[in-house]
Amino acid sequence: MRCLICHEEIFPRITWDNFWRIPEKEVLCSECKYQFLSLKPGCELCFRVGQNGVCEDCKWWEWNHPGLLTKNISVFQYNEFAKDFVARWKYRGDYILLEALQRHVVEQFNRMKNSDCIIAPIPLSEERTVERGFNQSEAVIQLLNQTPCHLLERKNTEKQSKKGRYARITSDNPFKLIESVRQPVILVDDIYTTGTTVRHAASLLKQGGCPEVISFTIFR
Ligand SMILES: [Zn+2]
Ligand SMILES: [Zn+2]
Repeated sequence: MRCLICHEEIFPRITWDNFWRIPEKEVLCSECKYQFLSLKPGCELCFRVGQNGVCEDCKWWEWNHPGLLTKNISVFQYNEFAKDFVARWKYRGDYILLEALQRHVVEQFNRMKNSDCIIAPIPLSEERTVERGFNQSEAVIQLLNQTPCHLLERKNTEKQSKKGRYARITSDNPFKLIESVRQPVILVDDIYTTGTTVRHAASLLKQGGCPEVISFTIFR
């Protein structure tokens, strides 16, 4: 077996701990595995690392747009290694890579998932989906073995990333609601950066009568 990321041969480690058990299938070598840093809960609302209580960004959100998002839960730090990983996975279409993170991602997800939650992807415009071949948010839902429920759709403009953070926060909502629900929703995406995207989505869901929105993202 070779490592999914660096293609080095993986040598299973035998320890007294796993000596009597069938070794779990390793898909990453230990060097790559240790580059992914699991997040310890930092900010109570968004998981930002190295934070006690609520971070400045979340305070800003709660002050200006209270209660849109109950919280964000993430799995790994979005460090340099993770950035390379995402670039390979998302922009260069190295789809299989995501499987390397499955065990941790599923574990973290199951810790928070509650059976009456609806799992919704963040939509990509059709144009982007065609260009990239897949929607990263749906790929994560697939990894979680969950069924995506399409509640939102993207309007036709997608120039968000060129604007600054606070311009983005106040800019027009890029989504529109296609189905309103009365159950809690978990929005799933690959990365939480400013939190704008998930809050745009959450605001529409809430206007449509959804009682609670949580986001689940792999990287933070
Ligand atoms: Zn490796
Ligand atoms: Zn925060």
